[in-house]
Amino acid sequence: MKVTEHIAQSEGKTLFTFEILPPLKGQDIKSIFDNIDPLMEYKPPFIDVTYHREEYTFKELENGLLKKQVVKKRPGTVGICAAIQNKYSVDAIPHILCGGFTKEDTENFLIDLDFLGIDNVVALRGDAVKSEIYFKAEKEGHRYASELVSQIQDLNNGKYLDEELQNSSATDFCIGVAGYPEKHMEAPSLDSDIHFLKKKIKAGAEYIVTQMFFDNQKYFDFVEKCRKEGITVPIIPGLKPIATRKQLNLIPHRFKVDLPDDLIMEVVRCKDNKAVRQVGIEWCIQQSKELVAAGVPILHYYSMGRSSNIEAIAKEIF
Ligand code: FAD
Repeated sequence: MKVTEHIAQSEGKTLFTFEILPPLKGQDIKSIFDNIDPLMEYKPPFIDVTYHREEYTFKELENGLLKKQVVKKRPGTVGICAAIQNKYSVDAIPHILCGGFTKEDTENFLIDLDFLGIDNVVALRGDAVKSEIYFKAEKEGHRYASELVSQIQDLNNGKYLDEELQNSSATDFCIGVAGYPEKHMEAPSLDSDIHFLKKKIKAGAEYIVTQMFFDNQKYFDFVEKCRKEGITVPIIPGLKPIATRKQLNLIPHRFKVDLPDDLIMEVVRCKDNKAVRQVGIEWCIQQSKELVAAGVPILHYYSMGRSSNIEAIAKEIF
């Protein structure tokens, strides 16, 4: 079922959903199920599965030269989606990227998803590979998520890359895209970022999931700005509980989001990461309560591969 249909059917009740990462190559699917199992009690209508593009590593050869290697550390997005739908009978939502994909790769990926009975996709640009500063699209690929949304929407209209295909069948994906209450790290301003967000909606996206934020006011202001710009689709807040002291530096650095001073000081005063985890859970519970009271359609949690803190939050809220 489509995300938009889940929202329509919830009759105003806030739904619980979460995102998981495929395991590192070499681990089995049990590690994924072990994380999902305890969360099923809170009846998520769907589970997102992230996509991780290739990385470049350098291996030193005997002659001292370096050999460039391409590795995908977390493959398996599509397989995990199929396994989730099969085991739990809930919708699995794969993330799909511009990065590392040609248009042909994208089309074939979408055909696989359609055959598997997947109804939703989250369309993203992806970040630059680690060895590069700026994102570089494949020669025959997309530069921006809005272009990727257009290709998915074309397929929804039965338009394949080979326009001469006869009797081609249309897909029916509901498309989600990313939004950034504190603006995307490369955007010159929040207004320009929202301008391009609107482009993704115009291209066919039907809902937005936000980057994590730790101050609800940032989300409320963002929604207000989007509505003023004529963006009417659901804007699903994405939440992540802080779990380690190291994240105080890592989160602002990697995601370019601010942490409120009160939260920072509470974490700084913690004796160990067990205490930090508890602070993160309590902060996220307060955020969740306020967002539910404000009537958000869904609370979407970033599990980052671990579910025990998400479970503690869900227990209080759902
Ligand atoms: P876009 O919407 O293409 O925007 C990228 C930048 O370009 C923005 O600054 C925007 O303002 C600007 N821009 C857009 N269109 C134009 C234009 N036409 N001209 C000029 N500028 C333009 N990454 C992964 O690798 N895997 C995942 O599974 C994943 N899941 C995510 C889920 C969510 C909910 C979020 C919020 C992020 C996720 N990401 C994931 C990270 C995401 O790929 C990065 O944040 C990436 O840098 C931007 O992706 P985007 O889809 O927002 O890009």
